[in-house]
Amino acid sequence: MATIRRFFVENIGREAVLCGDEYSHAKNVLRLQEGDEVVLLDGSGTEYDAIVSKVSKGEMLCTVTGRRPSDKECRTRVRLLIGALKGDKTELVVQKATELGVAEIAVFSSRYCSAYFNENKLERLQKVAREAAKQCLRATVPSVEYFEKFEDALASCKEFENKLFACEFAQKSDADLHSLRGSCALVVGSEGGFSPEEFERAQGMGFAGVTLGRRILRAETAAIVFCGAVMFSLGEWEA
Ligand code: SAH
Repeated sequence: MATIRRFFVENIGREAVLCGDEYSHAKNVLRLQEGDEVVLLDGSGTEYDAIVSKVSKGEMLCTVTGRRPSDKECRTRVRLLIGALKGDKTELVVQKATELGVAEIAVFSSRYCSAYFNENKLERLQKVAREAAKQCLRATVPSVEYFEKFEDALASCKEFENKLFACEFAQKSDADLHSLRGSCALVVGSEGGFSPEEFERAQGMGFAGVTLGRRILRAETAAIVFCGAVMFSLGEWEA
């Protein structure tokens, strides 16, 4: 059986309209036609079954036939802060963090960060998150934002119950990763890593230093494995 295609659209009522990128993909790549089944998502966590009812220039009208809450979302809120990485490495991290169930992603610049960032890159990352969410059957798309100042990125995690800072020069973990409960904010540095002052500032803001083992991992490896380990500890790998 062919997989039923998933689309993110706004304003889903009895009907919904696919337009823009989602329309182009549905019409030109997947060649969907009237009568084809689709699943529509509005990012709220609900999945809507629908049938393509009319295809016109630039728009595809769908009629909603049913709805249900998604069972794919994480029960616990996890936020990832990642330093801006070179090339397309940040995209890789956003894709994998989305698959792993992260709710929010924030990219930051810090002292030893050498990648530049701009609006276009942010838009690209939001698109990567949306595509990854569709591919792994999520019904929400993680938000992706950018902080020019590392301190502002840290401050954005105030309300999280666990604030965990992957520190390449930490000798031991100041948090018990075996039995995490409650929302988690995770911080991972860019290729250049962190300065001792940055780590101290984060500690002053309630972050616990965490070691990811005795070897130095590449930033993208660290981000992905940290998200995976936290999801496991939170019980997200259980059915
Ligand atoms: N340039 C640094 C390494 C940076 S690694 C150096 O040479 O020491 C990039 C980021 O990955 C780090 O800032 C940290 O957040 C994370 N990381 C990599 N290995 C780690 C480890 N063993 N423990 C904790 N964090 C690690």
